[in-house]
Amino acid sequence: MDPEYDVVIVGGGAAGLSAALYSVRAMLKTVVLERIACGGQILLTGDIENYPGFPKGVQGPDLAQLYEEQARRFGAQIKLDEVESLDVAGPVKRVKGAEGEYTARAVIIATGGEHNKLGVPGEEEYAGRGVSYCATCDGNFFRDMDVVVVGGGDSALEEGLYLTRMVSSVTVVHRRDQLRASRILQQRALEDPKVRFQWNTVVKQIHGNGSVEGLSLEDVRTGETSQMKTGGIFIYIGFHPNTAFLKGLLAMDNGGHVVADLRMATSVPGVFACGDVRQFSDRQLGSAVGDGIVAALSAYRYLTGEHS
Ligand SMILES: Cc1cc2nc3c(=O)[nH]c(=O)nc-3n(C[C@H](O)[C@H](O)[C@H](O)COP(=O)(O)OP(=O)(O)OC[C@H]3O[C@@H](n4cnc5c(N)ncnc54)[C@H](O)[C@@H]3O)c2cc1C
Repeated sequence: MDPEYDVVIVGGGAAGLSAALYSVRAMLKTVVLERIACGGQILLTGDIENYPGFPKGVQGPDLAQLYEEQARRFGAQIKLDEVESLDVAGPVKRVKGAEGEYTARAVIIATGGEHNKLGVPGEEEYAGRGVSYCATCDGNFFRDMDVVVVGGGDSALEEGLYLTRMVSSVTVVHRRDQLRASRILQQRALEDPKVRFQWNTVVKQIHGNGSVEGLSLEDVRTGETSQMKTGGIFIYIGFHPNTAFLKGLLAMDNGGHVVADLRMATSVPGVFACGDVRQFSDRQLGSAVGDGIVAALSAYRYLTGEHS
């Protein structure tokens, strides 16, 4: 049976739409399956200041629209569908969505992921107005301010240390009295004069007036509550890639990220993974775009038997 498509791309974020652009321009019949709306995480992002080519910054939703327009211009089909399962063992791949079934000779997984939320009052209200999940993205908005980092793992300390370059102080709020982060990061953070620690503490509420102004905290041992003034809170309590539907099909790491090589090839021939969903992604827009391009070119080589 001839498959309907050369390439099915699962996920219409920055990685998926970049892959689509390169795939259709290589004359591959391509469909992007997106469950919500094209753009992915950048639909939640106001000013993006670190994406090359936009010296004055760019609004995430505007960029999402441009990515979609450019992919469609060269012939990418985009369908609203949530992929629920895959059958990728043979040369013809079957992709099953809630709305239909798609067959292709190659599949690109670009399903991204989501940051874990604290789930406290004020978090959603002040997202992008003092609440951030990415110091590399937003650190510069907090120059010379006193900020809070929530979490005790590698990401919390790495990003907290990054913030010390531009902010006045970083208070790490952690629910335990020990960090989970690697020893070397712990040592660096503990020795940094700009980093303070508030142990055994959880955030109960984020307050503000237009933007974040402070936090209500609770000591988990005593139940005592306190207030802390801050203009910014960076939340690092985990990131979950959207890979539940891939379990058992592709090699994944302990965090559920898809394992892929430098060519974005996964453990299954003809299946590629790109963007935030893949292991060791830097979770940046520019890297998601680059991954998408590599994945599409690798799919092209796989389909044509070309090697470089
Ligand atoms: C608030 C915020 C601010 C950020 N700011 C910056 C910044 O300033 N600079 C920067 O470089 N990076 C920033 N980032 C990170 C950047 O947005 C991401 O690295 C990038 O968008 C990841 O793109 P992606 O395509 O890999 O994944 P995503 O954007 O997560 O896209 C994945 C897409 O796949 C879809 N999908 C998931 N599962 C399925 C399924 N089963 N079937 C069909 N579709 C599915 C999703 O709906 C989504 O549209 C920010 C992220 C956030 C959340």
